[in-house]
Amino acid sequence: MRGRNAGSKENLVAAHYIVNQFQEIGIKPFFDSTYFQNFRIFTNVACRNIIGIIEGNDSLLKNEYIIIGAHFDHIGYKLVDDSVVVYNGADDNASGTAALIELARMLKEKEGHLKRSVLLVAFDAEEQGLYGSKHLATQMPIKNIALMVSMDMVGYFKKSKKLYLKGVATIKNGKKLIESIEKPEHLKLQTERFELSVWGATDTEPFAKLKVPTLHITTGLKSPYHKPEDDADRIDYIGLGLISEFMAHFVEEFANNEKVKPSGKLSPKHDKDNALFQWGVVANIGESSLLYSKSAFRSGKSSFAFAGGMFMQFNFNFIALRPEFLYENKSFYFPSTLHYSSDPVKINTQAITLPLSVLLKLEFYSNSYFYLGLGGYYSYYFQAVKNGKFMDFSNETYHHHAGIQGSIGINIHQISMSAVLRNELTPVLKHSPIVRDRAIFLCVSYSF
Ligand SMILES: [Zn+2]
Repeated sequence: MRGRNAGSKENLVAAHYIVNQFQEIGIKPFFDSTYFQNFRIFTNVACRNIIGIIEGNDSLLKNEYIIIGAHFDHIGYKLVDDSVVVYNGADDNASGTAALIELARMLKEKEGHLKRSVLLVAFDAEEQGLYGSKHLATQMPIKNIALMVSMDMVGYFKKSKKLYLKGVATIKNGKKLIESIEKPEHLKLQTERFELSVWGATDTEPFAKLKVPTLHITTGLKSPYHKPEDDADRIDYIGLGLISEFMAHFVEEFANNEKVKPSGKLSPKHDKDNALFQWGVVANIGESSLLYSKSAFRSGKSSFAFAGGMFMQFNFNFIALRPEFLYENKSFYFPSTLHYSSDPVKINTQAITLPLSVLLKLEFYSNSYFYLGLGGYYSYYFQAVKNGKFMDFSNETYHHHAGIQGSIGINIHQISMSAVLRNELTPVLKHSPIVRDRAIFLCVSYSF
């Protein structure tokens, strides 16, 4: 065998081996007369998923599927100085494939006692870019998939000491549900809310992107990843046995528990709206006015203000960091009492303003949250006009300004709306009683 690269004859040998195992165990093919789901990648390379089914016994729930997948392909071989170096991919992912076959054997015993239908899928062409799982995801009635699981790299329990279940937050009460499942005495589980690593793409991804609850089950990146040393002699077979045993209980629970529902939450990695990094455009309209800090004077009358520009947002769970880059145009009236004059003095300023806020998010639905923002800003005034005349930056006003800002808002998917208060800490005018600017804006932003 020269590895199991998608499209190679060695890959086909492995595919037939899995089919033979399914047949021997008595797993029915998902399609009328074949386990193969054929598809092509790149320029006509023939690939195939292998799909067996254990039909559910409940007249309604049998139309819902629990998909248990493991990719059986790997990266094949390479020629180094005219000699063949084979990448056997024992952990990645012969281990998951072996667990899948073992699981099939154990589930066969439970046939007739499972309410939902269980699909056992050996995915092809994962290493090339998740092509097998992408293909199945486009061919299935997505709403009927109750859960999709990828067992990818499960052969190193002895080293990892834990079996990771990544993505429990995509299932309603997922963590509780999973922790209630019977497991072998020596198996330790570690649940993680989401799959987060950008390096760890596995077959869950095409399903997760369609909002199907998904779990990546793995002993982690403990093997010599994508190296020829990832070989059979390093696999922890006892651990692999424990994992298969646990998976049989796991499938039984998920196939029979009528409360299994999606949580509506997705990993930021699978969800464009809720990405770790976002950017977009923002527009603000509002009003600004001048305030006296220490005096009996009334504050000046407010006038129109607006701003617009770009924002970036870095999301870390319920906290986000949001820098903005804005053009800002503000007008305000001087308190007329200062001048003992009834003619109002109007000032207009144009500035580049750079706010930076920390947002505290309270999520009420997937990608939808209320937030409170606190932060500061720097403003560079590049033009100021008083009653129609340019003001002199060396004598009358300042270029550099800074202040604090607070906001309250709501974000629904890509759109957010908020109210922002920007309070300047630096004075507006030279040679004058200290007056500071305060602006209130209604903001709308759209993230791409
Ligand atoms: Zn893999």
